[in-house]
Amino acid sequence: MRYVSTRGGMAPQPFTDVLLEGLAPDGGLAVPETIPRIGPAQLESWRGLSYADLAFEVLRHFLTDIPDDELRALTHAAYRPEVFGSEAIVPLKPLDGGLSLLGLSQGPTLAFKDMAMQLLGHLFEYVLARRGTTLNILGATSGDTGSAAEHAMRGKHGVAVFMLSPKGRMSPFQRAQMYSLQDANIHNIAVEGVFDDCQDIVKAVSGDLDFKAAHRIGAVNSINWARIAAQVVYYFHGWRVATQPGGATPPEVSFAVPSGNFGNILAGHVARSMGLPIRRLVLATNENNVLEEFFRTGIYRPRASSETFETSSPSMDISKASNFERFVYDLMGRDAAKVKALWEQLQARGQFDLSALRGEFGRYGFVAGTSSHADRLATIREVFERTGTVIDPHTADGVKVARPFVEPGVPMLVLETALPVKFSETIEAALGRPAPRPPGLENLESLPQRVLTIPADVQAVKDLIAAQGAR
Ligand SMILES: *Cc1c(COP(=O)(O)O)cnc(C)c1O
Repeated sequence: MRYVSTRGGMAPQPFTDVLLEGLAPDGGLAVPETIPRIGPAQLESWRGLSYADLAFEVLRHFLTDIPDDELRALTHAAYRPEVFGSEAIVPLKPLDGGLSLLGLSQGPTLAFKDMAMQLLGHLFEYVLARRGTTLNILGATSGDTGSAAEHAMRGKHGVAVFMLSPKGRMSPFQRAQMYSLQDANIHNIAVEGVFDDCQDIVKAVSGDLDFKAAHRIGAVNSINWARIAAQVVYYFHGWRVATQPGGATPPEVSFAVPSGNFGNILAGHVARSMGLPIRRLVLATNENNVLEEFFRTGIYRPRASSETFETSSPSMDISKASNFERFVYDLMGRDAAKVKALWEQLQARGQFDLSALRGEFGRYGFVAGTSSHADRLATIREVFERTGTVIDPHTADGVKVARPFVEPGVPMLVLETALPVKFSETIEAALGRPAPRPPGLENLESLPQRVLTIPADVQAVKDLIAAQGAR
């Protein structure tokens, strides 16, 4: 399998080349040249596999330049019960009214990003060793991504992480998840500024191409194709645990996905394109409804940061959806010239209009809805009262938007994108009591922390990487 750019300006490359890159040289995103197809018999044959073996079976279609035995070792290293808390790795948690949660947040940082990031840690270590090189991952975070990246890369050979976060602006729990790591290759950097300052520094450092090359600066952001590929696996897993074998045609399931950058639900779209019988992909947004607006009107209109609301499901507070271009590529019949023209239009006019294609959206299974702060609180309360389960605010957006799309005989799996303890203030607002703490994390905030505070200064970050980076 080789990878091309959604905008057509990249010679086909093997997986291990796109793994370490961000955007394609033409500004587009890497996509596989073809989508592998999985037939019904093969699908049925995967029911009895461990999660790690299922991951191997799915990923071997995409990561073809890694030999089978080595890829299998990597998926087994990533998806272990000791890391994800149970043999199932991803448990199914039935709620009520035809809904279940797909438990994607049992990993070390209690959010679904661990599902992809844990594999990425092993993949990076493997590919860097094979090439005899090293990488310095530079990122900015205000929450889930940074901690998932740090927990995935800790102790890995050939990789160092420099993660910038705005000083004093994360919750004590999120801070402790990152700053309590004592591994020598993990560098927590608290910047005296806001999240945008952190992001500006990352852009400035990565934009200095000489520095970037000399210090092998990389990223693990949500457009990384390996993250999407790893996420495809749990859609197959969700299908097999929510359906019964047998019957002339394979049973269908629907998924509801709390969405921000369109990375999680894009993986569902890929799984469906591979032949997984997904009836609906229900896209849930919060008040930042760029994506819901697209599926309702056909108009894609990213927002300015000033138009982006700070909500109680903060990991979905996005102004533009960085992975959306990969879906548009499929919608345009995989015609890169059309995608390129659309993104030129976006640049010039701030939006593009695909309302003429609205009839096509249903063919891809997508439906969408939004959820507000009041909906979130009401849903957390209602689910708790009916089932005794406490759900996090992002997952609550998924449940709220999913309900009207539940159909008889079709399991609706809401992707549990975080555990409630990460967002306990909102749980207190909804239920009048804090979220339950998973065992082992009772004292997280009182563990010793390791963080360096610096002014919002590009040179200070460069000096740090030069002095302490992987070499
Ligand atoms: C990242 C994140 C999301 C959004 O996922 P996308 O892939 O960006 O659509 C939703 N919920 C939580 C808790 C997250 O961390």
